[in-house]
Amino acid sequence: MSDCLFCKIVNQEIPTNIIAENENVLAFNDINPQAPVHVLIIPKEHIPTTLDLNENNYQVLSEMGKMANEISKDFELQEGYRWVVNTNKYGGQAVYHIHLHLLGGRQMSWPPG
Ligand code: 5GP
Ligand code: ZN
Repeated sequence: MSDCLFCKIVNQEIPTNIIAENENVLAFNDINPQAPVHVLIIPKEHIPTTLDLNENNYQVLSEMGKMANEISKDFELQEGYRWVVNTNKYGGQAVYHIHLHLLGGRQMSWPPG
């Protein structure tokens, strides 16, 4: 998707602070961090929302989770952290390329806004 911001990051068209990368998944710092650690983990494939997951691409979620776990250990977040995935308008999704927010380094509150 040529007009997708996160596809541009995957294609290195936008300079980004890459945290981790493998064949299918990329992790980078959020440009507007909401916690001391705020990393976005995305599939390299363009999947707009969680509603677009299907039998052919569900497995990328486990790859994203695996990378998030590795990063949480790198950043010593064993005391706790939060994963967030926003979907569509009511979910507060702003970028329509699936991303897992890994937030940590401070006490989180509940319920979320
Ligand atoms: P959403 O609301 O879609 O779940 O989250 C989108 C996230 O992308 C936001 O936390 C926002 O700060 C982040 N973001 C938006 N534009 C950029 C960008 O150009 N670079 C990076 N690294 N993050 C971005
Ligand atoms: Zn995309």
